[in-house]
Amino acid sequence: ASLFTAIEMAPRDPILGITEGFNADQNPGKTNLGVGVYYDDNGKVPLLECVQKAEALLIEKLAPRTYLPIEGLAAYDKAVQELVFGADSAVVQEKRAITVQAIGGTGALKLGADFLKRFSADNTQVWISDPSWENHRALFESAGFTVNNYPYYDPATRGVNFSGMLDALKSMPSGSVVLLHACCHNPTGADLSDAEWTQVIDVVTQRGLVPFLDMAYQGFGDGIEADGQVVRRFTEAGGPVFVSNSFSKSFSLYGERVGALSIVAASKEEAGRVLSQLKRVVRTNYSNPPIHGGQVVATALASPELRKLWEEELAGMRVRIREMRHLLVKKLKEQAPGHDFDFVTKQRGMFSYSGLTKAQVERLRDEFSIYAVDTGRICVAALNTKNIDNVVAAIVKVL
Ligand code: PLP
Repeated sequence: ASLFTAIEMAPRDPILGITEGFNADQNPGKTNLGVGVYYDDNGKVPLLECVQKAEALLIEKLAPRTYLPIEGLAAYDKAVQELVFGADSAVVQEKRAITVQAIGGTGALKLGADFLKRFSADNTQVWISDPSWENHRALFESAGFTVNNYPYYDPATRGVNFSGMLDALKSMPSGSVVLLHACCHNPTGADLSDAEWTQVIDVVTQRGLVPFLDMAYQGFGDGIEADGQVVRRFTEAGGPVFVSNSFSKSFSLYGERVGALSIVAASKEEAGRVLSQLKRVVRTNYSNPPIHGGQVVATALASPELRKLWEEELAGMRVRIREMRHLLVKKLKEQAPGHDFDFVTKQRGMFSYSGLTKAQVERLRDEFSIYAVDTGRICVAALNTKNIDNVVAAIVKVL
């Protein structure tokens, strides 16, 4: 027997499995709504103009690729911190926040998970929403945590089961880590209202829970500032805060792996100690992050002209998704008047829990070559003015 004789085949990644099926499908009219990627109206992943211009600037002053510091490019970390917390925020002014460049939002979550595992009480457990991004559980489990679900989505109202969520928060032991989606909840598209966040922040603060805010879609909800409010409100509440953020979607830089982990501590001195330990986590995982994506984002955020361009391009993505939500609902209303899809326009971000059942998703795939996630999650950002009629016609047939 070899070392590997007893190794079993791992289960396929559910989302990547959909794309494999889609790629193998010979139907020229096929549509992939299973992805977590923004496509433009031509069905292409955009290469943003602000990115092209930032890259042109970088090419003008080509530099050797030395190692970055363990915590990443200083200009990147600073720009990200100001974006996430606000340049004028108390945490930034008082130097209580530390930010390290990470390998995408996923890498940021893993750094935070490893750090928490090292420095929280042995029996600390992690809580994620039911449902959540499918990698959250696996990431925290692989860091050694027991991961639980708190109630979140309510299929009956197609919104948040807020009382269930709040009750769960009220019964968690002090010190528990609570993973929250800062905006544009993946996979449901259902976010909390401002008033509901107030209550969540109160309970988290009173019970001494540790909020871990995952912000992978800043700018896709109501705008960069508006979407950042939840993070800012948590930092104003005073306790420790973890924030993972990602530019994969907002800069359309998926493959560059640009994200960051920020941690808010009680004082500048405490933050210094936290950073020193976080650097050890980085050092023993991958030593230091890659250079190019961080340079592109730092260049774009530092230049007033490129920053403005980025905000416009991001607004363009946000508005297009919203238009697709409205168009989808309008067309479904015309063709399936007995069904209420209005909730789709209330959801935010790239995704919609469409309410389609597993059986309906299977029929969409088998009969119409339209690929969605078994849970009924569709990527609204993969709809466009060319494929929407086909999608609507198929949905109407399977309803
Ligand atoms: N967190 C959430 C909620 C996400 O949806 C995603 C990506 O889909 C990530 C984190 C990971 O982001 P990245 O691709 O930058 O690793």
